[in-house]
Amino acid sequence: MQTHAKQVVGLINQLPKKDELKFLEKQPGNKKVISETNQAFISVINGLRSLIGDVQTNSTTIPFKQIEETLDQFLENAAIQFDKMNKLSIAPKQPQVQKTNQAKPKDIYGFADVIQLNKLPFIPVLKYKHYAQTELDQKIIEAQNNPTQFFEKYAIEEFTHPYYEEITRLTPQDFVLEVPPKINRYRDLEPPIMINNADNLGELVLKIQNEVDQNGFAEVAVDLEHNHSISYLGVTCLIQLSTRTQDYIIDPFPLWKQVGDMLSVVFSNPRIVKVFHGADNDVQWLQRDFGLYIVNLFDTFHASKELQLMQNSFQFLLSEYCKKSTDKTYQTADWTQRPLSDEMIKYAQIDTHYLLYIYDRMRQDLKKLNKPNENLNNIPNYYIESVLKRSKETALKIYKKPLQDQDQSLQTILNKQDRRMEAKNFDLMVKLLELREELGIQYDQNPRYFLPNPFLFKLVESKPTSIQELKSQLGGDKYIHEIIKENLWQFLKVLLEFDEKVPIVNIIQEEQINTTQIQIEEIQPCLQVEPLKIVQIPVNIRKFENQNKSVVKNNYRNENVEQITSQFLCESPFKLLNVFYDGLGSQIFQSMKEQSLQQKQQVEETQQQKIEKIKTSDFIQLPKLEESNRDQLKDQDIRLNNTLQNQYGTKILKRHQKIEQQKIQKSNISNRFEIP
Ligand code: AMP
Ligand code: MN
Ligand code: ZN
Repeated sequence: MQTHAKQVVGLINQLPKKDELKFLEKQPGNKKVISETNQAFISVINGLRSLIGDVQTNSTTIPFKQIEETLDQFLENAAIQFDKMNKLSIAPKQPQVQKTNQAKPKDIYGFADVIQLNKLPFIPVLKYKHYAQTELDQKIIEAQNNPTQFFEKYAIEEFTHPYYEEITRLTPQDFVLEVPPKINRYRDLEPPIMINNADNLGELVLKIQNEVDQNGFAEVAVDLEHNHSISYLGVTCLIQLSTRTQDYIIDPFPLWKQVGDMLSVVFSNPRIVKVFHGADNDVQWLQRDFGLYIVNLFDTFHASKELQLMQNSFQFLLSEYCKKSTDKTYQTADWTQRPLSDEMIKYAQIDTHYLLYIYDRMRQDLKKLNKPNENLNNIPNYYIESVLKRSKETALKIYKKPLQDQDQSLQTILNKQDRRMEAKNFDLMVKLLELREELGIQYDQNPRYFLPNPFLFKLVESKPTSIQELKSQLGGDKYIHEIIKENLWQFLKVLLEFDEKVPIVNIIQEEQINTTQIQIEEIQPCLQVEPLKIVQIPVNIRKFENQNKSVVKNNYRNENVEQITSQFLCESPFKLLNVFYDGLGSQIFQSMKEQSLQQKQQVEETQQQKIEKIKTSDFIQLPKLEESNRDQLKDQDIRLNNTLQNQYGTKILKRHQKIEQQKIQKSNISNRFEIP
């Protein structure tokens, strides 16, 4: 027992601290281990407590043997669990490098034009409201017609829910409150009807409509499959819909632009109850991709909460009510692929096939909760109505783009991180997140995949000041996602700017007609390794030549740019300057090259000419910002310009353009850093 006890104590000492735990909990897959560990902890404590109880009440003989055995059992379990817990690495998972080039459905099926891949707030995509009680806000149409102008004109961050009135005004419907005394068992699984064109979707809508006409109501179970890993906004990949008699699987890709208007005949009809399980995400995806809103939602997740079931997952309901299980691995499968395998189709079908039966059973159970003598505000169906109320809240959720949601998610990150992130680092985090988000939009990739959150924390904590440090913080060259690799300089810039260390070249600007002559006074050969320390060892071109004579002779003269830059490690200062001052690095490099050519000629001519002195740049320390005027002076340009003008009598060159203004492609981005 001692070994187990020791083991446990040792492991407990290593356990993540409270704030780390909160952080770990956010990582996919960790939640389960953490909650199991909590259970293990509780069982140790309960075990001890019950033993102590036993000892106190039957105090004649102390059952040492029993205590030891029981404790040992607890401790062994705990040891296994704590060990698992400690293996939850705070070190982030490597980003999934391979996904960047995967073709996107919007390109294959031609609906890229309706994807709102920009920094503007999300504009609802619906053009018409079925079953409307209030008119569609004309502002939405105005925004749809001319997004950029619209947001210049109005300071609107989000639109009101187009079906707000319809949803809030809806009273609980009889056909939801009343459960038939005998519930029909679920049907056997038979192949679903696949829908991949508008005609077939139209037939389905009509069929449901007919049912409403005949019975006065209809019931459908709905679920979606989604992919969030190959695009910035994510994409709905499947809509599964089950009626009482049939399962349908709608492939939205080939009929993307028709789905919304057609299905809203069903989704906004209050006489059709839409049963979902855990619709929080689905509600938002339907809005984002199809402009669909759900009037009369019954969410079985909320029912499971109301019933206080042990678990609230669909899997749990499936096993409880139907004694069936489903293979969870497909949940995270790539649902963009076509054709879908039979297994995937079956999995998708199961998500709605049993749901109407579960809906019946749950309503039955909810009714049973109402005790006849219990007076819950005189509402006979208190619990079902409570589910409907919660479901309304879900249906009223408004989709926001990640950028619009940023403030909130940032606040969450900060709250979760509390002690781990100093308040002043918050600003840096915001900047890094903004950059990551901009790259996400630019490349249409999910930022969380090419740069997972934990890496951002690492950057904020370690504040690397060189490309090499940066790379090592991001997990090493081999693992850094291509998108990040192409934009390391942007990240370095943010980090250096945050410490108010902006590299400058001491430039003598001689304005000539239409040209600016640039002379560099000093050069930093090793910026790539330790850029900030370099200031202490300025090297002039002569020394530079002596140390690397062969290179200068063999390569520089041959203008083998790549070789020079790699051997001298000179590429980085130029690149860094390019990022801070648009294209300046390239200009300097060009100027050096020209000078060298001239020198070469001169040397050849006179064998006497001295090499003109080229001096290196320095890092300028900008004045620290007072907290109070941080916002006003945040723009580096102003302060940098002032400092440059006061201390050096030079002016800043054109600053690196902001990404949002450059609608340039990936290839252009990488070109920008190429030395001419
Ligand atoms: P579901 O409602 O369970 O069918 O899930 C709908 C979609 O949510 C899936 O297609 C996935 O894209 C996503 N999803 C569900 N569960 C997970 C999970 N555990 N991890 C990642 N994505 C998930
Ligand atoms: Mn779902
Ligand atoms: Zn599903």
